[in-house]
Amino acid sequence: MKIDSIQNGIVIDHITAGRAMDLYELLGLKNVECSVAMLMNVTSSKMGKKDIIKLDADIPVDLDAIGYVDPGATVNYIKNGVLDHKQSIRMPKMLKNVIKCKNPRCITTVEQELDQVFKLTDEEHKVYRCLYCETQAENK
Ligand code: ZN
Repeated sequence: MKIDSIQNGIVIDHITAGRAMDLYELLGLKNVECSVAMLMNVTSSKMGKKDIIKLDADIPVDLDAIGYVDPGATVNYIKNGVLDHKQSIRMPKMLKNVIKCKNPRCITTVEQELDQVFKLTDEEHKVYRCLYCETQAENK
């Protein structure tokens, strides 16, 4: 794909420089069929440096995962070569099946089919805790 011209797809823009890899992992982008381009340390007038991820297809992306890694990111949906709409991102109150609880005694470690649910307990410090055992998630 030509990096600059996506016909139909998704551009995740304004990612804090250095976070694109984390997002790539959390969104499971290594498993998608479409082309994925990661641009890192792009010069931005607003942010100094930023990362960008481009997906060459309109695949479902988990906006909560994006909000968890970087609530300042924006998601642009491209249709027929032009911007169709923009989606701004917020820090999600709940995270479902985005991250895993690290507590070996947590019920989600034992019962693998349970959803991994985390609740935002401190918005200012971006603290998420497991709904079941209240273990704090490592910050991404
Ligand atoms: Zn837990």
